[in-house]
Amino acid sequence: MRRTGHDDERRAASSPSSADELERAATLARDLFGLAGRLEPLPGEKDRNFRLSTADGDRYVLKLHAPGTDPAELDLQDAVLLHLAGRAGSPSPGSRREPGAVGGGERPPAPRVVPALDGRRSAAAAWADGTRTARVLTWMAGRPWAEVEPTARRLRGLGRHVAAVDHALRDFTHPGMRRELVWNLTGAPAVADLAPLLDGELRPLVTEVFDRYRDHVAPRVAALPHQVIHNDANELNILVDDGGEVAALIDFGDVAWNPRVCGLAVAGAYAMQGHADPLRAVLPVVSGYDEVSPLRPAELEVLYDLMRTRLAMSVCLSAYQHANDPANDYLLVSRRGVTRVLRRLAGTSPGLAHFRLRDAVGFAPNPLARAVRQHFESGVARPVPLLPGAAPPDEAVSARPVPAAPVLDAPPARYGEETAQPPGRRPEIHLGCDLVTGEGVTVRCPLPSVVHTVKTHPSGSVVLEHRTDGGVPFWTLYRHLDASSITHLTPGGELAPGDPLGTAGATRARLQLLTHLLGMGADFPDTAPVDEADLWRGISTDPGLVLGRGGAARPRREADGIAARRRTNLSRAMSLSYREPLHLVRGEGAYLFDASGRPWLDLVNNVCHVGHCHPRVVAAGHRQAARLNTNTRYLHESVVEYARRLVELLPDPLRVCFFVNSGSEANDLALRLAAAHTGAADVLVLDHAYHGHLSSQIALSPYKFDRRGGRGRPDTTHVCELPDPYRGRLRAGRDDDLGRRYAGSVADRLAGLAAAGRRPAAFFAESLQSCGGQIVYPDGYLREAFEHVRRAGGVCVTDEVQVGLGRVGRSFWGFEPQGVVPDIVTLGKPLGNGHPLAAVVTTPEIARSFETGMEYFNTFGGNPVSAEIGLAVLDVVRDEGLQAHARRRGEQLLRGLRRLSGRHPLIGDVRGEGLFLGVELSLDGLLPATAQAGAVKEAVKARGVLLSTDGPADNVLKIKPPLVLTGADCELFLDVLDDALGEVEATL
Ligand code: PMP
Repeated sequence: MRRTGHDDERRAASSPSSADELERAATLARDLFGLAGRLEPLPGEKDRNFRLSTADGDRYVLKLHAPGTDPAELDLQDAVLLHLAGRAGSPSPGSRREPGAVGGGERPPAPRVVPALDGRRSAAAAWADGTRTARVLTWMAGRPWAEVEPTARRLRGLGRHVAAVDHALRDFTHPGMRRELVWNLTGAPAVADLAPLLDGELRPLVTEVFDRYRDHVAPRVAALPHQVIHNDANELNILVDDGGEVAALIDFGDVAWNPRVCGLAVAGAYAMQGHADPLRAVLPVVSGYDEVSPLRPAELEVLYDLMRTRLAMSVCLSAYQHANDPANDYLLVSRRGVTRVLRRLAGTSPGLAHFRLRDAVGFAPNPLARAVRQHFESGVARPVPLLPGAAPPDEAVSARPVPAAPVLDAPPARYGEETAQPPGRRPEIHLGCDLVTGEGVTVRCPLPSVVHTVKTHPSGSVVLEHRTDGGVPFWTLYRHLDASSITHLTPGGELAPGDPLGTAGATRARLQLLTHLLGMGADFPDTAPVDEADLWRGISTDPGLVLGRGGAARPRREADGIAARRRTNLSRAMSLSYREPLHLVRGEGAYLFDASGRPWLDLVNNVCHVGHCHPRVVAAGHRQAARLNTNTRYLHESVVEYARRLVELLPDPLRVCFFVNSGSEANDLALRLAAAHTGAADVLVLDHAYHGHLSSQIALSPYKFDRRGGRGRPDTTHVCELPDPYRGRLRAGRDDDLGRRYAGSVADRLAGLAAAGRRPAAFFAESLQSCGGQIVYPDGYLREAFEHVRRAGGVCVTDEVQVGLGRVGRSFWGFEPQGVVPDIVTLGKPLGNGHPLAAVVTTPEIARSFETGMEYFNTFGGNPVSAEIGLAVLDVVRDEGLQAHARRRGEQLLRGLRRLSGRHPLIGDVRGEGLFLGVELSLDGLLPATAQAGAVKEAVKARGVLLSTDGPADNVLKIKPPLVLTGADCELFLDVLDDALGEVEATL
């Protein structure tokens, strides 16, 4: 569908420029714009366009607009380009890995307007045919989209890019923006008048599209969000970079105020071409667009018709031009491709297309399906049994006896279950369920119905139409009935619940519950591809609702499908690890297993502390979950026993416990305790610290508030220097007395507070800092810091969320080697071995300050199941000697890593305690080797070992495995790391 009647900037030149013209243009460029260089003619039907390359390598487009070009139109284009150029923004999260160059908040690349020497945006230029308006734009590098293979990834990038450009224009206004362009999709009714110019099969195809526009789209247009859009993302106006990813949109000649969704519809109409299944091909464009600029249900309702309308307009307009220019065969060639798409789409139900588009962006496919399900689930429907002997739904528990089960040739179909398929075929699921009947058994109508379809060939099928109380129509479809038994039914006839429908032809009848017929009647499919399960299950919903029985099977999801669903239905603020994310299905000990069965040695997970899925922990949870699960408002021995066990493990005077669900909640409560005890609000934290995702904890986490997306330090948070003996201001081996001197930073912050007449509520610190890069504080640091804080009236909180419970080996808690006892300790990750269990333990004095009359109630915290799981974890740590084991494995790893550091220049530092270790990668002169750390992580992964990276510069390899790591696992890791470092160092 090549555009006609326009100046497509990159199309083959239509009229060659003479040497005279080139010389004239060069003079104009120099005299009017001060630009000298080599000129090459560019295509343009009415305008004269030239590429200008300067000696410095800068490139521009010189445009000499046809005499009579409306200056208001050029002003609009310039204003749009200036708006885009001035659009500041920050990169969207995760956009580095996304296809398409830009995300929602970024500035989409676009040509820039180069002013003339007199400062104006254009200049009058004398040309052979009169005075032309001269403009200069910067040249956009890239190849046209038409030249690359349109992979799903690129199509998604295209959608993202179109959305980014239009999103950047969302608040743009201009006096000339309300243009009545012939190509505006809203101008379809006028173009529809050209349909009689078409002949053969094309005319009815196009007429049907315009009729849909008139009946379905036009009444909805006014309510759609409107704005100025690019309006012309055709294959020649989309530029791709060397890797084939969309890099820019050019040609802003059609910008106009339109329904926003039209910009996507135009892109979709072009992107559909050349695909066997055009609608399926365009889905990535739509989901990509939605990722940047979420689509509204009302836009999705008209999108498919708008895409087809663009195609129909294209053939009509080209027919019109061909009528005026019969010698132009080019017009016919471009029409052929469009015709093919229109033909391929002709059989598609617009309802199904609408549902596909909704599904692609993560809405329920049919928005009315919810009302249908509710009709049953609310108990309003009260269907009667379809078969004799079957209990109505309300009596399902005391089901009456069912006739003796007949012998079946194959197992009965269960809704959602995979069908038996020969290998190599695309796997499918059942959309219906089988009623096992025995031959000749009468099937009865379950609900008030109107007969919709009766079909007797190849076997008897009936479709009944029903309505919910609210008037939403839905249908039941019955198959495999004896054809001769349904002849009494006629479409339009009414049936009451219990009326006979027909007899089962063989040993079973198949039932479907449909929320839309898609114009298919009894031919509605009863199976669907597994990778389209969400779509089809949203239309053909669970027939168990009619039968009063559950048990629908859940569809299988493959890695790609899971990733796509995450994009539409989970926040994209939630990231995935690794370039190729892992699809894990099972864990055991220190190993994880992916969907293919491949084992991965897990050095990341300090949550599954005693090993993934430890049988004693699993059994404890299972046992208690099967017995009782309530909350702490009742007497229950488990929570008391658990509190006692924790207190035994902690030094005096820590003896009062609170149970919560996460490390963040624990730190939030610690903050409340400290505030209650001190009456103060100011908190000291360490630089780069992370204490949790709650608002109160983001406020205490420089790791968050000082980095991407952060809003900076709150007034009541005071950041102390991180005592980092490797990279910090004071260094081990060079400076003395590091602990005391780093603690001076705490004293300084306290002095600052005092000078402002404020007092500290608390000093929060991890016992060893994890997010800061696995930092082991210098001796005496916490002791000195605590003394300063307590002297100023604050309480000392240690966050043991990452390091507690024996991980550091030398001691059970991370704070012990520092010779301190905190006033409040917060515990999290390892406590429940993956079950959400966290705790705060404090002194009786602080606990007393919190007893203000306000109840502390935490719905889930400390429930009997959590407490039993917590107890089982403590038992396993003790019974399997995991603390001592962590110490031995830690020593083994430290020895090995130090050996490697002698061989690998990338290793700058090796540090840690027990199984909480860090390997910091540095280039010459302590330069953080961030990219190399990422590469090592991937190279280690390629060899079957999982590591994470962290630290302020993300250059520290973190090692914090389940404590059950074996000596052989350690040696395996050391070998793998040796290899991986060698591989990455070879690239330096
Ligand atoms: N404190 C520290 C030191 C942490 O590392 C984390 C989690 N990474 C938290 C608190 C918050 O724990 P959660 O994610 O369980 O809320």
